[in-house]
Amino acid sequence: MPYVYSFDHKHRRPPMEYKDLLGGKGANLAEMTSVLKLPVPGGFTVSTDACRAYMESGWPSELDGEIEKQVAKLEKDMGRTLGDPKDPLLVSVRSGAKFSMPGMMDTVLNLGLNDRSVKGLATSTDNERFAYDSYRRFIAMYARIVMDAEGEPFEELLEAAREKVGGKTDADIPADALKELCDQYKALVKEQTGKPFPQKPMKQLRGAVEAVFSSWNRPRAIAYRNREHIAHTLGTAVNVQAMVFGNRDNDSGTGVGFTRNAATGENKPYGDFLVNAQGEDVVAGIRNTQSLDDMIGVFPEIHDELLEIFERLERHYQDMCDTEFTIEQGKLWMLQTRVGKRTGVAALKMAVEMTKGTGKGKDRWKISRDTALMRVTADNLDSVLHPQFTDKGTVLATGLGASPGAAVGKVYFTADEAADAADRGEEIILVRNETSPEDVHGMMVAEGILTARGGLVSHAAVVARGWGTPAIVGAEAIKISGKQFSVGDVTVAEGDVISIDGTTGEVVLGEMHMASGEPPPEFDTILQWADKVRKNKLAVRANADSGEDAANARELGAEGIGLCRTEHMFLAPDRLPVVRRMILATTDEEEEAALADLRDVQQADFEEVLEAMDGLPVTIRLLDPPLHEFLPPVEELKIKEATSGLSEQEQAELAAAESWAEHNPMIGTRGVRLGVIKPGLYAMQVRALLDAAAALRKRKKNPIVEIMIPLTVTREELALARSWVQEEVDAALKGMRNKPDITIGTMIETPRAAVRADEIAEVSDFFSFGTNDLTQLTFGFSRDDVESRMMPAYLEQGLLKRNPFDTIDQTGVGDLVRLGAERGRATKKKLKLGVCGEHGGDPESIDLFYRVGLDYVSCSPFRVPIARLSAAQAILRNA
Ligand code: PEP
Ligand code: MG
Repeated sequence: MPYVYSFDHKHRRPPMEYKDLLGGKGANLAEMTSVLKLPVPGGFTVSTDACRAYMESGWPSELDGEIEKQVAKLEKDMGRTLGDPKDPLLVSVRSGAKFSMPGMMDTVLNLGLNDRSVKGLATSTDNERFAYDSYRRFIAMYARIVMDAEGEPFEELLEAAREKVGGKTDADIPADALKELCDQYKALVKEQTGKPFPQKPMKQLRGAVEAVFSSWNRPRAIAYRNREHIAHTLGTAVNVQAMVFGNRDNDSGTGVGFTRNAATGENKPYGDFLVNAQGEDVVAGIRNTQSLDDMIGVFPEIHDELLEIFERLERHYQDMCDTEFTIEQGKLWMLQTRVGKRTGVAALKMAVEMTKGTGKGKDRWKISRDTALMRVTADNLDSVLHPQFTDKGTVLATGLGASPGAAVGKVYFTADEAADAADRGEEIILVRNETSPEDVHGMMVAEGILTARGGLVSHAAVVARGWGTPAIVGAEAIKISGKQFSVGDVTVAEGDVISIDGTTGEVVLGEMHMASGEPPPEFDTILQWADKVRKNKLAVRANADSGEDAANARELGAEGIGLCRTEHMFLAPDRLPVVRRMILATTDEEEEAALADLRDVQQADFEEVLEAMDGLPVTIRLLDPPLHEFLPPVEELKIKEATSGLSEQEQAELAAAESWAEHNPMIGTRGVRLGVIKPGLYAMQVRALLDAAAALRKRKKNPIVEIMIPLTVTREELALARSWVQEEVDAALKGMRNKPDITIGTMIETPRAAVRADEIAEVSDFFSFGTNDLTQLTFGFSRDDVESRMMPAYLEQGLLKRNPFDTIDQTGVGDLVRLGAERGRATKKKLKLGVCGEHGGDPESIDLFYRVGLDYVSCSPFRVPIARLSAAQAILRNA
């Protein structure tokens, strides 16, 4: 297998299927060249195979020869040679992994320029200024990216050159000054890196390719992969492509275009371009761009050609594409295309609209509903559910709404300071002139991002949109200087709070109130299609403990409650004293009296929950946590004892807290074990529940109750706990006419319970997998401790691919779920199975739960829409 492939290489399958080998960019360049026959400058891709080989054992010995061969072919195709002193070929070098990845080396342009070929470029273009401007850009870029030099001193030299000639912009610097600047730059390279700036084009090329390879393992790139769950072993490809110049003259230009609007989803091409500029000028947002419509006035024919290409691209990819293009002396070149990133609103709108068909006659195309469903992501749904402001503040400045949603936070002006503040637990808004991959670690922790420059396709906009982080770009009224920004006479300093609305682009001083978002109509359409796919295959319930949450969950599409944590009802301020009275009781009578009081308040709570979910199953879990959680902390009482002294009640609380204290409370007296030593507790809860159900029956409602016993380990303990519940049920139902529907089951959240599910199923009507505790107990990872301290190190070093509390550990914990399901059903074929750990709202975990045959997943109310979509996707994926 070769390491290097030219864009027109004849692959066996369509090149876009070779993203593993060629990276996303390389695969698309090959597809554009050899299948779509678009005007693409020639070039070749150094494959990810080469990168992996490099990471394993250094620069592969065959690689130099292969690159030389490809360069020779490229030179022949383009009719120019690298480093030619008369009319040189110049190339760009870009990284291109399988998944687009900010944080890696991006691009080196103008490679091939040296002291000799710059003269050739000057003669062949008859433009000395252009040649030396290209050269100085190349030296600075190469020095910074490939030779690890600092960027700032180059900027300073450039500024000095501009000032010396009294110019306003870089374009005012004449050729002579640029020539001198090139010499200064080369000297600076030597000074900073101890090495001369390389003059041999092949040496420059090898340096750039190697820099791309090693940028794969930059901390920023690793952090990005960790966040996006991209495997560290993939490696990146490198694309080497003949340069065309958008900054040659006023007949040239460069831009980026989307076949539809990536922010709103509107079926209208969208783009930004600049006359007489290079690509980086557009993305960096340093100059203000013009729209595609403006192009009609400047380059009318190219505008038509571009729109025709857009149509061809959409038909080919059957999706919205984004493109980069350059116009060189009146000729259009396509530099890049790929299926484009989009906002959640746009993803929903496009997916639904594309099922209706686009184009005419033989060019008409559409996608199926199933394809549309597969295209919408959990993040897309999340972003349309994002908070919005409820009040109107005084608008300080308005920029472009680049990524929807509202955010409030303290302003920080550098990524490092933002990351530190986030570590301290602050909510932050990152404010920058523009962002670059350098800033990714600060953007990642930001509630919102605000930039003073840049357009809707700038780095800040694209990255924020991909993550669903609210962002405003190009708020030009904002003048940043050091650790503050000002708008008119208002100054906002580091640490001050602002609010930003990424939908309207409004920046507001101070903290605004937020409420959840209003999803577009396509949100319901997609979810209804998802529900059709899921019907009778995988239900979605919610974890909710109050009537209000239950009603909200139902509104969001929950088909019942999979977990009502009754302890949450005990923590209300008016309940806690009663619970404490029960714990502190010294006689049976005192305990019974306290339990009777608790029963009354619990009954009211149960009625609310059952009513909100009328006609749908509601799983009520009997008390689970250790009792000391309801008492004040021992230390707190001890301090008070030593200072102001304790009241009689507090003395009793201290004694109880000390007696209930345990070294490992999460594996101590909790769950069903608590029931065993305080049986009156469960009996009281069941009675309250049955009274609530009976009250609802009287009101002609239809409560469906599932009573769930937590943390079971053996059949015997479940049989015992079940017997108390059954006794209460029998007593309550005796003689009742309209009996409510009641079943009794257990959580499977210990490894033993999963392994011995066959025995446990003998005394259980249903199982609900509690994957939070099951993960804790399977790994032996404290769910309260390891995620902040240990997990980051484990993820960084690849000891774990994913945080198992986030996404189910498929082969360990997931295998226990599979085993529990199989063994449970071996005893009881129709055993109802669900999951109520946090994983119930995680798309990848849902895929596993579907594959192992669970009947439902249960998650927090706001994740219900995501679970509905993910369940449908799991079904389609595994069909
Ligand atoms: C679980 O352990 O997965 C579960 C749902 O119970 P809790 O989180 O309340 O312990
Ligand atoms: Mg649990």
